[in-house]
Amino acid sequence: MSKTGSNWQTTISKSVSYEGVGLHTGKPSRVTLLPASSGTGICFERCDLPEPITVSAVMANIGSSRRATDLQCDGIAVRTVEHIMAAIVWCGIDNIIVRLDGEELPLGDGSALTYVNLLDAAGLTELHERPCDIRVTHPVWTTRDESHLIALPYEGCRVTFLFLHRRFRPDRKGSDTESEYLDIEVTREVFARKIAPARTIGFEWELDTIQEQGLALGATLDQAVIIGKTGYVGDTRFCDEACRHKVLDLLGDIAILGRVRGHFIGIGSGHSMNHEIIRLIAGDWDVKRGV
Ligand SMILES: [Zn+2]
Repeated sequence: MSKTGSNWQTTISKSVSYEGVGLHTGKPSRVTLLPASSGTGICFERCDLPEPITVSAVMANIGSSRRATDLQCDGIAVRTVEHIMAAIVWCGIDNIIVRLDGEELPLGDGSALTYVNLLDAAGLTELHERPCDIRVTHPVWTTRDESHLIALPYEGCRVTFLFLHRRFRPDRKGSDTESEYLDIEVTREVFARKIAPARTIGFEWELDTIQEQGLALGATLDQAVIIGKTGYVGDTRFCDEACRHKVLDLLGDIAILGRVRGHFIGIGSGHSMNHEIIRLIAGDWDVKRGV
């Protein structure tokens, strides 16, 4: 068995549904997960339009990376896909239809746990076709100001992440940079237990501003781990929950490539740099395959 799942391509055993509100739009939507045949990959289907439109989770369809990952095809968007993408790939599913009656995936509990539980309920079926693991074949990296993201060859999947944020001094005369660090070998079981439950990050001082920009309209304090001026506000699921959520977002973004083997090292990186690194990895892989 490979480190990322079955020796065969897989799909879910039965259809399952979930209804909730989108993180950024604040609008309700219903998502239904359906089994799919081998070679389908992960396909989102907008069923709220006059004709259903399919938006595949492939690199060419990556749209906006403004605080979330959106997919877009022929002007039709599916927003905030990263949490369900991470859950699908790390629950060992290669082929699935994600039918959605709105523009944005429901946020669930703010983490990927809602979708992990939904996929567990759906069960897993093996299909009699071999999967294709994407390997990082040589080091690739992207750098923007003080943020860096590096991918190295590795037999399994490992993520090393440094999350940086400002912490204001008690006298309010300036701030210090606080950090959280996580180095984790990702397996299906580790993902479900240590990464999937980490909730969306909210910075207390930004909440009004981003809602004025029309973002995070569907978030409540229960669905986010809030970072205030002197540290976390409210309860946390992990002492480094924000860092773990950044790892979740990274895994959700690289899941666009499917099963990936590599060691990813992120320092303050986010969605747009995640998209850059998968373009670099996919470019190398296409060259290797002669595409
Ligand atoms: Zn996220």
